[in-house]
Amino acid sequence: MKLTRRDVLKTAAASSAMVALNSSFPMVEEALAAEPDKWVKAVCRFCGTGCGVMIGVKGGKVVTVKGDPNNHNKGFLCLKGALMPPIVYAKERVTKPYIRKNGQLQPASWDEAMNLVVGKFKIALKEHGPTSIAFYGSGQALTEESYLASKIWKAGFRSNNVEGNPRLCMASAVGGYVTSFGKDEPSGSYEDIDAATCFFIIGSNMSECHPILFKRVASRKQADPNVKVIVVDPRKTNTARIADEHVSFKPGTDLAILNAMAYVIIQEELDNPRFYEKYVNFMTNDKKKVNFKAYQKFLEDYTPEKAEKISGVPAEQIRRIAIMFASASGTVSFWTMGLNQRIRGVWANNLVTNLHLLTGHIGKPGATNFSLTGQPNACGGVRDTGSLCHLLPAGRVIKKASHRAQLEKQWGLKPGTIAPKPGLHTIALWNAFSEAKIKAMFVLCTNPAHSLPNVNMYTEGMKRKDNFMVLSEPFMDAETVKYCDVLLPPAFWCEKRGVYGCSERRYSLLMQAVEPMGECKSDIDILLDFARRMGVDSKVIPFKNVDDVWDEWREVSSATPYNFKGMTRARQEKESGLRWPCPTEDHPGTKIRYVRGEDPNIPKDYKNKYWYYGYPDGKAKLWMRPYAPAAEEPDAEYPMVLTTGRVIDHWHTGTMTMKVPELRRSFPKAYVEINEDDASKLGIKNGDNVELETRRDTMVFQAKVSDVCRPGLVFVPWFDANLMINKLTLNAFDKGSKQPEYKICAVRIKKA
Ligand code: SF4
Repeated sequence: MKLTRRDVLKTAAASSAMVALNSSFPMVEEALAAEPDKWVKAVCRFCGTGCGVMIGVKGGKVVTVKGDPNNHNKGFLCLKGALMPPIVYAKERVTKPYIRKNGQLQPASWDEAMNLVVGKFKIALKEHGPTSIAFYGSGQALTEESYLASKIWKAGFRSNNVEGNPRLCMASAVGGYVTSFGKDEPSGSYEDIDAATCFFIIGSNMSECHPILFKRVASRKQADPNVKVIVVDPRKTNTARIADEHVSFKPGTDLAILNAMAYVIIQEELDNPRFYEKYVNFMTNDKKKVNFKAYQKFLEDYTPEKAEKISGVPAEQIRRIAIMFASASGTVSFWTMGLNQRIRGVWANNLVTNLHLLTGHIGKPGATNFSLTGQPNACGGVRDTGSLCHLLPAGRVIKKASHRAQLEKQWGLKPGTIAPKPGLHTIALWNAFSEAKIKAMFVLCTNPAHSLPNVNMYTEGMKRKDNFMVLSEPFMDAETVKYCDVLLPPAFWCEKRGVYGCSERRYSLLMQAVEPMGECKSDIDILLDFARRMGVDSKVIPFKNVDDVWDEWREVSSATPYNFKGMTRARQEKESGLRWPCPTEDHPGTKIRYVRGEDPNIPKDYKNKYWYYGYPDGKAKLWMRPYAPAAEEPDAEYPMVLTTGRVIDHWHTGTMTMKVPELRRSFPKAYVEINEDDASKLGIKNGDNVELETRRDTMVFQAKVSDVCRPGLVFVPWFDANLMINKLTLNAFDKGSKQPEYKICAVRIKKA
């Protein structure tokens, strides 16, 4: 069917509904196509679903995109993905370097800009040492860019102050996987969706945040009416609208619900002792190994009736979902920011995994515990390459002397080069920058002046004259541009080459489709130039281009269970994504980890079916994590809960999606979503201006009254730079993962 441009505009307005209805998106592609001269293989620039795209190029310009039929998305794209081309040519593109003079950004040459940057970093290093400089990167940077920046800092400058925005979205998932399995990253793959008979979706609005994956879940349910969907979310989102059970609960009490589900599973004898007796250790919260009976005793505090008192979820519903989860032939759990952005994010992750370890719904087709990623390369770029302050590449940690020694050997460094103390995590880093203890900060491919929680605190720090920030940012209207001292123009998405690794451990190559605009350079070239000018030893940073960096990363990973050795550039150019471990050039990549015959890290003659090799005894850990309240509970002064998130048409801080006319028209500004009963009590009608006040700031939003939020809860999307909800959110963080609690804070509201 051919569509007109007008049909596409109508489609934009109805995009949320389309996802819920499981519509087919390639028709959008047909409408936009302008007969390109060539198609170039790449990956969508937005969410962690990591859909493969083909970029249509005509006369050296991007004119359209379509889904890659050979990647996991089988040619489908959601509306955001299908509407990317205008972003490349937005009038706000930064196409030359700028230096701030007398408070204004003034055009400069590359030499002037880089000389200033290097001068500031050299002074900071000389006068205050390696802990006074920092790199703040992104889950949107290419794998090679994150790896290179991390190596420049950790090996070149002996500074572990390497952080990035994945700390704000994925750190609790990392903490969850590492504590449960000894290794990060999901063990299953997207194919598990096609074999599952039960989906347990908690803390995730998949239909809006991971539309193409949700489409696959909805198709599975449509194909087999016996497939059950459980959605645990205090909002009745589009995701919840296909649920057999929508569990609405008092925000922050899901830990009690998850423990109560485990209690019911054991009571109903739906647990799987044959699995957990062989492959699982039961652990107390203070890391003592105990037996199953001790776990049962712990769960006595979480009978469905006790959990009902904490969470507001009827005991009968807890029983029903527990039985549904355990009695299915295969259950896949999905979660994302609703669990991760919490002060008990790691515990919440552990408790979902517990249900899989207790029932044996793990490590077989259609049964897995799957954390979804928000950004296109948080897994592949930052987690895997170890580009955070406590990590080294491929699952190694800075604190372990043996891991540092391995890396020093692989990198050809003198023993003792890598500093033994982890750097500052994101919140501590920006606190230190605000206090001018960090003197020079390199920010790449992210917008912290919009995305940090309690953001006023940090933008005040960014205004100081005695610290220095260089920013590589493609768009002049990104909030952080207001505060940087030097602005560098990076090549954007299809203007450069490199790799994105999505939620299912799949790494896909983005091939350069067009030349960078104006004076833009790829971030790899910017970082290589920076390292050279800083005088970093050319033996430490010997790379000439992005492919050299990739080849070193393959080597560095090959001594670990990550193992990318078989993912050569030649293969990546030919194939549409490969999943690690992929140890040899003829290896097809790994669908399921920790399973003999599937995971190449397990010898074929290993005696057992499963081997959780992250722990020396090969067993996973089931943790007894108690319920604990949120950092800021509602009270008499601030009686409601504020939560934040995405809407389908916008992504992150809106710097890209707000440049697509169809998407901007569909959702032009942020709003506050209020439950109809609360609205009626407060005399608020749809469209009224409503004042939201937290202990941090006060803002006014237009009301959207509906049944989506439960009573007592309000929701505000965070994409809008003119209505930045992060002025109101809280910067309390999980003490394990250091991820902030964006999802819950106390608020009072009134008609403005
Ligand atoms: S689901 Fe995510 S990765 Fe796929 S097209 Fe949409 S935004 Fe892009």
